[in-house]
Amino acid sequence: MALSSYNHQDIRQEAVLIIKNAMVLSMDSQSNYWEDATIVIRGNTIESVGKMQDAEEKYPEARVIDGAGKLVMPGLVNTHTHVPMTIFRGYADDMPLHEWLYEYIFPIESEFINAENVTLGTRLAMAEMLRSGTTTFNDMYYFVDEIARVVDATGMRAVLSEGLIDFAAPGSPTPEEGLRISEELIRKWGSHPRITISVSAHAPYSCSAKLIQDGKALADKYQVPFNIHLAETRKEFDQSIARTGFTPAGYLESLGVLDKNLIAAHGVHLTPEDIDLLAARGVSVAHNPECNMKLASGVAPVPTLLKKGVKVGFGTDGVASNNNLDLFEEINTAAMLHKLISNDPTVLDAKTVVEMATIGGATVLGLDKEIGSLEPGKRADLIILDMKQPHAHPVYNIYSLLVYSMKGSDVETVVIDGRIVMENRKFTYLDEEGLYARAEEVAAQIRERGVELAVLNGKKNLHQS
Ligand SMILES: [Zn+2]
Repeated sequence: MALSSYNHQDIRQEAVLIIKNAMVLSMDSQSNYWEDATIVIRGNTIESVGKMQDAEEKYPEARVIDGAGKLVMPGLVNTHTHVPMTIFRGYADDMPLHEWLYEYIFPIESEFINAENVTLGTRLAMAEMLRSGTTTFNDMYYFVDEIARVVDATGMRAVLSEGLIDFAAPGSPTPEEGLRISEELIRKWGSHPRITISVSAHAPYSCSAKLIQDGKALADKYQVPFNIHLAETRKEFDQSIARTGFTPAGYLESLGVLDKNLIAAHGVHLTPEDIDLLAARGVSVAHNPECNMKLASGVAPVPTLLKKGVKVGFGTDGVASNNNLDLFEEINTAAMLHKLISNDPTVLDAKTVVEMATIGGATVLGLDKEIGSLEPGKRADLIILDMKQPHAHPVYNIYSLLVYSMKGSDVETVVIDGRIVMENRKFTYLDEEGLYARAEEVAAQIRERGVELAVLNGKKNLHQS
């Protein structure tokens, strides 16, 4: 079957889509949940949601999805990713962050990250995210124009940014060039209905003070979010104290960049004073529990951050350190991890976790007026889960079911901006043909070069048995 191509000027802009007879979890401020409800979508907007008997008579031209035996909820929001890194899935595992990043990931990125491989990795990531119910993601990487093209064509929603860093990065030989690219991206994609361009500095330890401040100034100029990895490891924390006299968060405060437009990824090593500072400045945190566990970076103080009023969403981080983009797995892990680490089973209760993955994530990205809940007037970004499965019954508490029982693979159909982008697990606009074979071809080249680099640098040889 031939795939459709995504067309913004599609005459179906005013088309009506109805989902009837479905369990609907709205994630609105009233926590509305219906066991049998109807959602009416016109164009890209939710027109109504709730109990409705005569939807089909009222909209005779509508496309109707029978939601019997299905659960409809807002699409999940991934607040921290590096999507093209899918091509490094499993390339370097079981080592600490600093060694992983500087001795394995940066060297191989410098040789293999180009426009073609970014497009490949992004397509693989879009397929994985749609299949597991993510409708919006916040990304920091290189060759962002290519990422934006794939997002545009596949129907996803995204916040995208070029990663600013002090050394030559793929596609961006100098930090100044990175800033120029960032501004060009904002101008080129700024008015896209599903793409927001933001600005990102990689981290306080990999960016000069000037680069961080210039990046923040650019973000402020265009009123877009500013991302940075913050206080991810103990090593970063200790080095920050030694080099600057400040904690990583205190250092950013000294640079004047902490405010409500800042999204700090990780926030693992925060002092009580740092947490108060982030709360006072309105900073958001992208919590990446699986990446932090895998790299043994530590556990972010999420219950305290939430208690202090810091906005926290979930991220997967890049696939090379997770090693997947499944947010259902992430929310399950987060709920379990924080209970274990705090010796308190009441923290990060199921409803809080589902909020963080939907409306909370949308708030972190500054998109909560548009997405994150199913309410009239909001963009129609939703996922439909198959409930005709043993692990989906009985339903005592819908939030508990989602966090502790359901899986990304239960997602059957995905609607973004009013368009069905995946139906019964078949993509509308994304061609899987040849995608996985091509990923293996590129991986074979990367593996071969990895072995050469390991020999050259006298490092642990990861891929030669
Ligand atoms: Zn990251």
